[in-house]
Formats: sequence, structure tokens, C-alpha cells
Amino acid sequence: MASERQYREQIVRYGRMLHDRGFVAATDGNLSVRLDERRILATPTCMSKGEMRASDMVIVDLEGCLLRGRRKVSSEIGMHLLIYRLRPDIKGIVHAHPPTATGFAAAGVALNQPLVCEVVIGLGSIPLAKYGTPGTPELTEALAPLVPQYDAILMSNHGVVAYGADLSQAYMKMETVEHFARIALVTHQLGIQQPLGAAELEKLVVVRAKYLGDAQSAAPMPLCNGGPANGHRKKAPAESDTPVGVLPRRASS
Ligand SMILES: [Zn+2]
Repeated sequence: MASERQYREQIVRYGRMLHDRGFVAATDGNLSVRLDERRILATPTCMSKGEMRASDMVIVDLEGCLLRGRRKVSSEIGMHLLIYRLRPDIKGIVHAHPPTATGFAAAGVALNQPLVCEVVIGLGSIPLAKYGTPGTPELTEALAPLVPQYDAILMSNHGVVAYGADLSQAYMKMETVEHFARIALVTHQLGIQQPLGAAELEKLVVVRAKYLGDAQSAAPMPLCNGGPANGHRKKAPAESDTPVGVLPRRASS
């Protein structure tokens, strides 16, 4: 297990990567790590994620109260605390506004079509949460029903949150979401989508189980989206995000 100092350095590194890849602008986004059962290490408010130092981080309790740090706690800490509360398996969280995935979130379109096999293996699907004002219970209420079932979520008219068994996994999921959004956008530009069918998805269930191995963090996987197996489909409303068939989430050990 890493030391607090190492976790601080990890947040600095992945914050810089978010900034360098254009996943955040200005002081957008936030990252956090679960230090233990009662303490969360998080990025402070009003700082560019490209310019943070290890000493800038804040430590809060599970109510969001500042325990340590000279900077202010982010107003979006509630989203992180919700995820840590609902998912004991989660140790790292990344929130950002990557432009293509956020474009889908602003268009009201979930990334829940099984268009790319490796995304299905890694993430299952990426649902769209209803809009909620940042920093208010509205936002956490919109996310709450989805958090137990998914490892990355589009937030309507806002951005993306991704989480994993450590900060590295959370960051990688954020990259996967944005990369998949770019691919999905190309299918929209081409005017046709050819989602994987039920038979192919059944086989991916087996591959996914092998891929996950002992991983403690895993969302269920869509087995059928209820849409046509081939050809163009119209945009899905946020309400139709829930996959028709899912695997139960792996129990945490
Ligand atoms: Zn945000």
C-alpha cells in the first residue's frame, strides 16, 4: 500500500495528465483517493489540475469536513463521498469534462451502445445521469442509482466521473470513456451504427470475467440494449440507459 505522500504525488501526476490531454480547462475537474475508512485525500477548489503540488491537497472526512490542508475543499466533494459510500471497493475517483464525452452528455446521449468490444470488456457501458446542479444534493441524487452498477458515468450537461480500485484505474477509465466517445462520434458522422449483437455479447461476458480476474471493481455488463443488432439507431433518451440484461457485480472481498 502506498504512503500518503505517494498518493499526493499520484494525484499531481494524473491531474497533470488530465490537463495535458485537454480533459479539463481552467480549474475544472477533481481527483481523490481513499486513504482509509474515514479519510479522503482530494484536490482543492480553484486550482488548475496542471499546476498542483503535493502539498496543495486537502484531507476530508466522510462528511466532507476539512481535516488537514491549507486550501479549500472542492464544492464537488459530495460526488466523491457518495461514490466512496456506495462502493467500498473504490479507492480512486477522477472527475473531468473531456470535450467529446461531455458533448454527448450535453446532447443527452448515453454511451451505452456496444460498439467496441474492448470498451464492453473494460467498462460494460456508460450511462447518462440526469442533470443536477454541481455541489448540491441534486447532483448526488442523480448519480446515486447508477453508482452501484457502473464504473464511469456521463453527467448531463456537465462531464464525466470515473472510479476504480486505485487512482490509476480511475484515470484509465476516464481515458477510455473519452476515446470511446470519439469513436461513437465517428459512427454518428457516418450516419450508421452496428452494435454488437446478443451472441457476441454473450462471448464477451466470458472474456470480461477473465480480464477482470481478481479485480474488485467491476460494473455489470449490458447483454442487450433492446435496439437493432445492426444499422442506424436514433439517439437514446437518458431514461433508456439501463441495460436489459446485466451480470451481477462481483462481490468485494
Ligand atoms: Zn465538474
